[in-house]
Amino acid sequence: MEISDYLQDDGITSRRVLDAMRVVPRERFVPEAHLSEAHANHPLPIGHGQTISQPFVVAYMTQALDLRSTDRVLEIGTGSGYQAAILAELAAEVYTVETIAALADRARLVLVGLGYPNIHVRTGNGYHGWPEEAPFDAAIVTAAATHVPSALVEQLAPEGRMIIPVGAAFAVQRLVMVRKSAGGRVTEESLLPVRFVPFTGEGED
Ligand code: SAH
Repeated sequence: MEISDYLQDDGITSRRVLDAMRVVPRERFVPEAHLSEAHANHPLPIGHGQTISQPFVVAYMTQALDLRSTDRVLEIGTGSGYQAAILAELAAEVYTVETIAALADRARLVLVGLGYPNIHVRTGNGYHGWPEEAPFDAAIVTAAATHVPSALVEQLAPEGRMIIPVGAAFAVQRLVMVRKSAGGRVTEESLLPVRFVPFTGEGED
């Protein structure tokens, strides 16, 4: 069974998201030991205690962002680089930050090999976002935060949206959709329960 087939069964309806999930070769982002499971609908270990998210969660979060081809997107938690590649299929530029240098380096190599000149990988603590490249039309955090970092909200453009798992580490979190209106008003909506690896290096806002 193909990834896009079970995504449709699970309620992913965006044609653009389904096409992106069909085009990006997930097998290039998973370790050799797990190649046979590359298209299965569950997360897989990528080393350093981290995981590549399950295809459904990648598609769900991407669909929620409702990306336009002109959008500039910020991702916190590059991991394997897979989510960044999906975003890059749908948006103009992707800025992604990873705290573990070895993962950032590997993701960069894979993404260059696949030919994504519009993905920019930075090693560092994503808690502070990427202020030099702000504002962003959309942002996605792929590690579980205890709260929504205010720097990331500040770096959203008017009419920007951000999706982020919020909750305790090593527990079930909630995906939260943060929206900034044209006038700068910020609202939050709680979506699906999820389970992500912890966001490290969180400060106080
Ligand atoms: N989006 C990834 C999945 C990432 S798993 C993929 O498609 O493969 C979460 C990643 O967030 C891990 O690689 C972890 O190292 C990273 N991370 C955790 N805290 C972070 C922080 N403060 N800044 C940047 N990256 C962080």
